Amino acid sequence: MNIITIPNGYLNENTYIVSGNSTDCILVDPGFDYPLIKSKILETKLSPKYILITHGHFDHIHSVDKIVSDFDIKDIFIHELDADFPFDPVKNASYWHTSFVMNTHKIKTFHNMDILKLLNFEIICVGLQGHTPGSTFFVFEKEKVMFTGDTLIKEDLGITHLYGGSHDKIIKTAFEITKMSKEYTIYPGHGTFSSIEYELNNNKYLRTAWQQYKQKI
Ligand SMILES: [Zn+2]
Repeated sequence: MNIITIPNGYLNENTYIVSGNSTDCILVDPGFDYPLIKSKILETKLSPKYILITHGHFDHIHSVDKIVSDFDIKDIFIHELDADFPFDPVKNASYWHTSFVMNTHKIKTFHNMDILKLLNFEIICVGLQGHTPGSTFFVFEKEKVMFTGDTLIKEDLGITHLYGGSHDKIIKTAFEITKMSKEYTIYPGHGTFSSIEYELNNNKYLRTAWQQYKQKI
């Protein structure tokens, strides 16, 4: 498995190029900087076939239309609970910015815990609510890698004050994260990569949320 991280400018969201043992690749969260994303794809000589969207906020879907027009994309995947976000500036949180809506409607939705078989990978779609209702970890179990979107970023958790966000739900999510295997490397929607083990030791929000959740149950 090879992962290339592309930090987009502006909101610093990460786009990832994921490849295995073929010349095809998967893109995770195509962000703002399409010229940069395109040049990285061309540099790798890989062909993007699939797009995975960790959640429906505008900074994570901004280049989908351009990629679809320039490359031969087979499928675009998003959680069913965020499926209408790309087409609604309030839901995708772009209303204060450019009121962005995605034009591509050829998207496929998945349910919580669905398994996608793409390229040579098996990817478990773990829905973890709080940042948005359909926020998802794309878990590559065999490779011990997860793409965590904005739900879990290095030493932080996602914000919950945007449309559909929920503080209570991200606390529950944090508790779920504490039960995950420490072996996983995490690739978040913003900032540098980390690991579950590092976050369990250094993410104070994760620890606090876990304690709050335990007091509630
Ligand atoms: Zn977000």
